[in-house]
Formats: sequence, C-alpha cells, structure tokens
Amino acid sequence: AVIPPYVGRFAPSPTGPLHMGSLISALASFLDARAHQGEWLIRVEDIDPPREIAGASENIIASLSAHGLHSDRPILFQHSRLDAYQAALQTLQRQQLCFRCQCSRTQLKGSDIYPGHCRYRTIDDSIATATRLLVDQQPVSYCDRIQGPRQQNLAAQLGDFVIARKDGLISYQLAVVVDDAFQGVTHIVRGADLLESTERQIYLGKMLDYPSIDYAHLPVLTNEAGQKLSKQTFAPSLDSGQIINNLLFALSFLNQTLPERPPKTVEQLLEFAIQHWDIDAIAKHCSHYQPLPSLA
Ligand code: GLU
Ligand code: ZN
Repeated sequence: AVIPPYVGRFAPSPTGPLHMGSLISALASFLDARAHQGEWLIRVEDIDPPREIAGASENIIASLSAHGLHSDRPILFQHSRLDAYQAALQTLQRQQLCFRCQCSRTQLKGSDIYPGHCRYRTIDDSIATATRLLVDQQPVSYCDRIQGPRQQNLAAQLGDFVIARKDGLISYQLAVVVDDAFQGVTHIVRGADLLESTERQIYLGKMLDYPSIDYAHLPVLTNEAGQKLSKQTFAPSLDSGQIINNLLFALSFLNQTLPERPPKTVEQLLEFAIQHWDIDAIAKHCSHYQPLPSLA
C-alpha cells in the first residue's frame, strides 16, 4: 500500500528550558508522525533575539534528545532563514497583498481590529514602516483533528495583520508559514494556545500558494492557578533524572494507554506509545477531565 507522505515538526522558541507543557507538544507531534510512518523535525524559532535566552536552544535540544526525541533532519534555525522571509514578503508585495503601515501604537490604541488607516496611503520609501497583510471578509475555516470545525472571519475579527515589524523583524506568523512550506510539513500537532493564530497562517499559506496543512491542537497544560506553563509563569524545567516519569506524565495527560509495567528504556516506552497512539483519545480527555491536570 502507498503510505501518504507525512512530515511533522516541533518548533520551540528558545525563550527558556523545555518544560512539561512543551514536552507534551513535542511528544504528541512525534508520536503522531511515527504512527503515520512519517518524518519528524525539530525547528528552532529564534527570530526574536530580544526574547531569547542564551543557551536555551542547546538546552531544549539536549532535553528532547534525553527524552528520545531526535530530529530526522538537521535542525533548522530560523535565524538562518531571513532571506527566505524577505523573499516571501516581496512576493506578497508584488501581488499587492500587503501594504506598509505607519500607524503608531498610540494611534491604534483602543482598536482591537486594525481600522485600515494605511490601506491606501502612499508612504515615502525613506520612512520605516510595519507591513500588514490585507485580509478579506471570506471566512477561513478548517477542521482540527482534535478541536473539530474552526472558523474565523479575519476582516471582522482581526483586520489586516502585521507580517513584518517596523524594526524589520519578521512576524512569527509569516516565518512559521514560510518554513512549514519549505520543510514540506504536512501535519502540525501543537498546543491550543496557537489555535487563534491558525486561521491567519492558513490564509497566509493560501496567499503564498503553499499546499494546505492538517492541524491538531492539543489541550494546554496549566498550573494550579490555571495559567499556561511558560517561562513567564515560572514553569519548572524538566527533571533530567525522571525521563521515563516525565514521558509517562505526558502520555497520561494525552489520555493514552500506559504500559502495565514500567518500561526499562526510553526507546521501549516510545515504541509502546507509538503502537498505542490514539489521537481521538485526546479530545475525549478534554471533555471528561475538566479541569486539566496540573503539575504537583
Ligand atoms: N515557536 C512557537 C512557540 O514556541 C510555536 C510555533 C508552532 O508550533 O507553530 O510557541
Ligand atoms: Zn496604519
């Protein structure tokens, strides 16, 4: 039988060490890829230098590796891809799908939806501006493998959104879309904190004529205060002496079958988890186990 191509990825930003929340995303994307006999890639999203922590990339990669999660290709670093983002920006500019925006933060204060001030404004080339993508009233819809049908009307809910900042920094939205296409990613499995970005990314992909991607958004692990684990909420980094337990916690959070006896090696555990991978069990988990388990 012909196996349809599957390329999945885990795309951490190097803003801190791997924590349980990011391990869950990494593991789920890895297991889904392996269960489809697909490839699994690691991509380091390091295009926002001010937010980066020195050593975080190495730290994350080492931690993934300790948990048996190795990229099938050399790891792609977004800092090496700036030319590709500029090329994509130019493609959009040539087709007049984006425009330069001179609005200051103060001018936009109080408007959640971009009011369109600069859509048809002529701005002198010598002035540094942000770039916004033109959006329309056509709803963007897709079916998430875990969350079900989703839809956004970008014009009504968001307005023309920023794809490059005034200081030249490329937005996460554009970089992620360009790189997923470049790497031939077919399936994205990641945390539901990115659900709200997905329609923007689908729309951008369409504007750039990229193939469409399948999405699955995982429930997000929260701490006792109900906050998403992150560096900002002081998520504990993973205990490197507890590799198997970390993986077992992640698997149980994902509502997966656990081995009856504790496995001897990480490889054995991952092999078991691939054999028993059931993405549909995750959605059941969302509705049955409210509130989501928190880290002790
Ligand atoms: N780099 C993003 C983050 O760490 C995730 C990007 C993605 O999975 O699309 O939040
Ligand atoms: Zn503007």
